[in-house]
Amino acid sequence: MTDTNPLCIGPRCGRGDPRQAANGSLICATCATRLRRDLEIAPQLMRWLEQHKTPGQGGGDRVSGSQEASTPTRLDVLSMLHEGATPIHGDDDDQIGPPSIPSTLKNWAWLIAEHRGLVYPQRADVGELSAWLLRHLDWATGQPWIDDMIGEVGALRRWALGLAPWAVHVQELVGPCRSCGKRALVRAAGERYIECDAREEVGGCGSLWTEEEYEEHVAELVGRRRQSRKVSAKTKRGVAE
Ligand SMILES: [Zn+2]
Ligand SMILES: [Zn+2]
Repeated sequence: MTDTNPLCIGPRCGRGDPRQAANGSLICATCATRLRRDLEIAPQLMRWLEQHKTPGQGGGDRVSGSQEASTPTRLDVLSMLHEGATPIHGDDDDQIGPPSIPSTLKNWAWLIAEHRGLVYPQRADVGELSAWLLRHLDWATGQPWIDDMIGEVGALRRWALGLAPWAVHVQELVGPCRSCGKRALVRAAGERYIECDAREEVGGCGSLWTEEEYEEHVAELVGRRRQSRKVSAKTKRGVAE
């Protein structure tokens, strides 16, 4: 029992009942995967928001004869696409408005470069920053500010999908979660991970699974069910004989 790790410091980990941190890390594997997912998706968020800079854009239901020339630009979307406001640690999401994607990633790259004595990737775009940060992810999970990083990078995805929802593309999966067993798994279009929906009304555990892990689990369950059917058939026969 000496190998008990401290509890994960990830924000809202386990919905208030935090999991154990992974070895050599201050956060659990699920929170690390979440941060990886949120970093990986940043370039995609940029492309997505780029397509939603004007109201009604990308919706597909354009009204013919509408006055396109006077279409205003969405400032909330622009402020995420361009450098600018980033949250100050501890700020509430709603207090400052949408955070800038490039500036948020730059701040974290700068901090990590400082700490590790690396050259800060000054001219990197969001795609390059995302790749750069992912390379330093393992190291970052052992730093005391990792909870702030998870919060701020996660807020980018939350904000972007709030401003231009792709919830219409969310697919609900039939198989249960590997971790909590609930049928609460959802996948947002274009995302690599399947997520156990941890919203209050759904009650999932927030775990993240790759497609392969999900398929593996479903195959396992199906196999186990077949096995137990065979066993019970045999037992019945045994009783009859
Ligand atoms: Zn955690
Ligand atoms: Zn779950």
